[in-house]
Formats: sequence, C-alpha cells, structure tokens
Amino acid sequence: MRKILTVLGARPQFIKASVVSHAIAQTSGLTEVVLHTGQHFDANMSAVFFEELGMNKPDHFLGIHGGTHGAMTGRMLDAIEQVLLVERPSAVLVYGDTNSTLAGALAAVKLHVPVAHVEAGLRSFNMAMPEEVNRILTDRISRWLFTPTQAAAEHLRREGAAPRGIVEVGDVMYDVALHHGRRVRHDGGAMARLGLAQKCYVLATVHRAENTDDPQRLAAIVDALQATAHQLPVVWPLHPRTRAVLQQAGRLESLAHHVHLIEPVGYLDMVQLEKYAALIATDSGGVQKEAFFHQVPCVTLRDETEWVELLKSGWNRLAPPTDAESVAAAIGAALGSRGAAVQPYGSGDAAQRIARGLADDLARL
Ligand code: UDP
Repeated sequence: MRKILTVLGARPQFIKASVVSHAIAQTSGLTEVVLHTGQHFDANMSAVFFEELGMNKPDHFLGIHGGTHGAMTGRMLDAIEQVLLVERPSAVLVYGDTNSTLAGALAAVKLHVPVAHVEAGLRSFNMAMPEEVNRILTDRISRWLFTPTQAAAEHLRREGAAPRGIVEVGDVMYDVALHHGRRVRHDGGAMARLGLAQKCYVLATVHRAENTDDPQRLAAIVDALQATAHQLPVVWPLHPRTRAVLQQAGRLESLAHHVHLIEPVGYLDMVQLEKYAALIATDSGGVQKEAFFHQVPCVTLRDETEWVELLKSGWNRLAPPTDAESVAAAIGAALGSRGAAVQPYGSGDAAQRIARGLADDLARL
C-alpha cells in the first residue's frame, strides 16, 4: 500500500480534493492521509465543503492562518515537515497556487518525497500575483504535473519540464461540476432565500489581492456592480477579506442597499447561484470555469486570466477594473451572449486519471 499525503488549506482546494480523494479511495494500492493547514478556517470557507461534498475530516489540522505571506508560508513549512516525518508518505499531493500549495511541496521535496501538483502549468504571466509565484515554484519541484488544459501543458514544455512528468488529465473542477451540477435545481436553496428568479440576476465574487488591496480597483468594481443593480438584481457572496476591506473603506452599508451582500455560501448553493445566473462577474479562477460549465456568460474582473480558452471561445471577457464605466459596459455587452461549443477541460475523469497515474508510477518506484 502506498500512502499519499494530501495538503489542503483553501476553499477551492477542498472542492478539487473532493473528487480526487474519492478516486484515491477507489484505487487499489493507494491510501490517503489529509493535512489541512488552516489557511481558510471559517465554517463557511472550510467545514461546509467537507460536509456537503462527503469528505472525511482531515487527519491533521495545523490551524495556521493570517500574517504576511512569508510568515504564513514559513510556519506551514515547519509544521508540515513535522507531519511528514511522522507519516512518511510515498508522495505528497498539492493543489493549485496558494501558500499551502507551496509550503506542502517545499516541505516534501526537502525530505525527498516526490510531489504531485494538480492544476500544474497555469500561468498568468503576472509575477506581482502571489498565486503566480506559488504555482511556478511548485511546478518546478513537482514530479507529477497534472495539467487541466492543453495551454498549461504547453507552458510546462516551453519551460523545460521533464516530458514524462507532464500528465494531461483535464480539470478536476469539471469533474466536480458535472457531478453536482445535475443535482442542483432552481427551486429552494439560496435563490429562494434571496427571492431570485432564473436568469434574472447577476452573480459576483471578488477576492484577489490585486483588487481588494487596491482602493481604486475595488471602487471601480463596487460602482460598476451598483450601477448594474439598477438593471438586474446583483448577488455578491463576500469573501472575508473583501468584507473587511469594504467595511474599512466605509462602503459596506451603502452598497447593501443596492446589492444582495451575503456571507460565503456552500458549494451547492454556489452551483445553484451560478447555474441560474444571467451573468457572472468574478475575479475567481474557479468561478470563471464554473460559469462556462453551466453555460453562463462571464466577465472577469482582472487584467489577464489563466483560463485563456474561455476568452477565445467567447464565454468569458476581461474587464480590467480600471474604471466603473468600462466594467459596467463589459457587463452590459456580455449579458445575453453565448460562446462557441468547446470542451477544453477534459472528459470529466481527471480525478480517476490522477489516482491511476499515481498508483501505477508509485508501484514502479
Ligand atoms: N465558492 C463557493 N462559495 C462561495 C464562493 C465560491 O462555494 O461563496 C466556490 C466556487 O464555486 C468555486 C470555488 O469556490 O468552486 C472558487 O474558489 P475561490 O474563488 O475562493 O478561489 P479561486 O478559484 O480563485 O482560486
């Protein structure tokens, strides 16, 4: 039996792991131990996903969150190493691009434990983003590079990654969306609580540091969403970081008169809000793709995106939040639009392919 130690810490990682952990459990020759760093710790940013998505409680919980990027990553590195020394896994599995991803990969490679990176090869080509630094460094020290898209695999080839390490599996988020998208209906749930009708509202999410930490960009987004709300209801589940910044800027109360500002919702409520929205405006990577999975037009509140396939196919458009007018215009232009019929994220079996790939390779090591 080969032991995989999975390092998780943030909301999108719990969602991605829900399908991969399930696939690992179904794969003979593999067993999994889950470590939660604590990076996201509020019940509605963490526990709700373990409950809703049928995941086991983490075997290790480090309770590390807050502080500067360096301090948080350093504390995680130290604590993850202690767990690895006790658990002695055959491989460490990490997801995406957070500080938990980098700390898990670095702790493992220093102990000569091979690293598997799910969502390898994504690039924004913007090194000012903490996520870009985390993902490039993690890719560089990973033995298995499980890529979600062709573009991601090409980035890795161009950067000189060992070809045998690049495994094109598709996007695990597509697996999750396929599984849960079917279950979700328009009646009940968050839509009923908010009194929203199908295809008659805009869903917004904002949490990237480049937007929350820049008062001008955040104001452009807030003003654009407020203007949109004159036309259609806008529902905005507020990430804790965004709530804190809006509160500090004194924008929260007045905004709440125009927009449905709600706490972060669980995955099933989120899928419902996405699936039945007229449009999604977001700076989230996962939400951009989920908009496409549910065939909803998307406006991305960023200067660039890692998910370039959706720009090319017309499902998504960039609206750099430099001023409110251009963002509101992008939302207006995207409403009612549709993209081309494309399938860039695999066949919905990425999780099984990851588990099988690890089992086969580890049996040979
Ligand atoms: N999500 C959720 N509830 C929310 C907001 C987002 O369940 O209130 C889910 C969303 O459906 C997607 C994931 O969280 O699956 C995206 O996470 P996030 O936007 O935090 O991170 P990113 O994808 O940008 O790394």
